[in-house]
Amino acid sequence: MNRVRVVGGGLAGVEACYKLLNAGFEVDLYEMRPGKSSPAHKTGALAELVCSNSLKSEELTTAQGVLKAELRVLDSLVLKAAEAARVPAGGALAVDRAQFSDNIEQILKGYDKLNIIREECAYIADNTIIATGPLTSDKMEESIAKLAGAGYLHFYDAVAPIVTAESIDMNHAFYSSRYNKGDADYLNCPMNEKEYTEFVKELVGAGTVVLKSFEKGDVFEGCMPIEVMAKRGRDSLRFGPMRPVGLRGPDGERYYAVVQLRKEDKYDRMYNLVGFQTNLTFSEQKRVFSMIPALRKAEFVRYGVMHRNTYLASPGFLTDCLHMIKRPAVFFAGQLTGVEGYMESAMTGLLAGMHLSRRLQGKTLIPPPLTTMCGSLCGYLAHATGDFAPMHVNFELVPPLPEPVKDKTKRKEAYADRALHDIRQYAQVIND
Ligand SMILES: Cc1cc2nc3c(=O)[nH]c(=O)nc-3n(C[C@H](O)[C@H](O)[C@H](O)COP(=O)(O)OP(=O)(O)OC[C@H]3O[C@@H](n4cnc5c(N)ncnc54)[C@H](O)[C@@H]3O)c2cc1C
Repeated sequence: MNRVRVVGGGLAGVEACYKLLNAGFEVDLYEMRPGKSSPAHKTGALAELVCSNSLKSEELTTAQGVLKAELRVLDSLVLKAAEAARVPAGGALAVDRAQFSDNIEQILKGYDKLNIIREECAYIADNTIIATGPLTSDKMEESIAKLAGAGYLHFYDAVAPIVTAESIDMNHAFYSSRYNKGDADYLNCPMNEKEYTEFVKELVGAGTVVLKSFEKGDVFEGCMPIEVMAKRGRDSLRFGPMRPVGLRGPDGERYYAVVQLRKEDKYDRMYNLVGFQTNLTFSEQKRVFSMIPALRKAEFVRYGVMHRNTYLASPGFLTDCLHMIKRPAVFFAGQLTGVEGYMESAMTGLLAGMHLSRRLQGKTLIPPPLTTMCGSLCGYLAHATGDFAPMHVNFELVPPLPEPVKDKTKRKEAYADRALHDIRQYAQVIND
């Protein structure tokens, strides 16, 4: 079996093709543009950047910087093309977007075994990588929904912010369950009347993201942003996600309102703000949510977002090697798998391409180590618990260091050193 299929010529799809072509396979790449476009794409170019021209930081003290360094070790096409199309952007990797896409097309067109088919594809065969992105065509959505079954395919994000555990002020927070029923799984952040009133006032006046035209309408029906709920009346949050009833402080205190935080990860290093899905801009989220006394110094790992986004609830559906559990010859990559961001999408494409080629060569599939940005995010896709929400790379996803490091910068450097050491070893194993 030397012929494989990649559906979607975006950031994930082109990486997958590159890996498969380098392994000697014949690749049919289906890309529906320019004949049929998505609501966000504007050209027929491969790997079109639909919004910002920044691929984010290159600093090794950031998760994005470490991800890039790992992808360099794994020979990423997107990174190579981006570096050759670089425009000045301080510590970030920003590109001339037309040049970037052109570089990718030039490199891929150098392979005789690539067949680019400019057609919409809705058929899911074995030995295929589906990388049709957050704006997957309707027909492909239907096919994926049939394959995945009820509940595994989502059409929009409604993500609440996540903060680091160490940045929560425990003098203003306490663990308890409502009416002391069950385990005390929630971390409660109480507010008095004055704090609540000021919080609601700022929340209703805060700046929101301008939705794209295709995101307006009823896509978010049934999942109301916290700021919209707040506009319905001063007490609406106290009767909704900030309900204080049944929650008493350590000395039996009652509160006017309570924000509940829920653990997000197995290492207890991240908490999400329950019911706080929001369309506020990131800077406004920081300003307004930091008015919650326990979150005055909160460090946000991920801000809340609400946008049109087709993605799989990957845990229980995909393995950490990005193929279906029930149909191992079908792989998924890109934003569709529940990753968020250009480089994360490219990373899953690279890995899906590598895993499919190993599978066809009769080799064992090996996921990257959990200590790496690549491995920790793939691990999150396969094993996240609770309500699954799309995620970008971050240091809170990797296992703790063997010896705790208090200084934040030094800790990040230690994570980066470990990740790069481990990804180099991984590359050696994979390339043997
Ligand atoms: C409006 C918007 C703005 C975004 N802005 C940013 C940003 O600024 N920074 C960031 O890091 N991330 C951003 N993202 C998130 C994400 O990083 C990008 O969407 C990224 O392009 C995802 O890569 P992908 O390969 O999964 O999908 P895409 O790059 O979208 O590629 C999917 C490709 O599949 C094609 N396709 C779809 N269905 C079919 C089909 N049935 N048959 C054949 N081809 C098909 C599409 O035409 C497209 O070319 C944004 C997402 C959206 C929707």
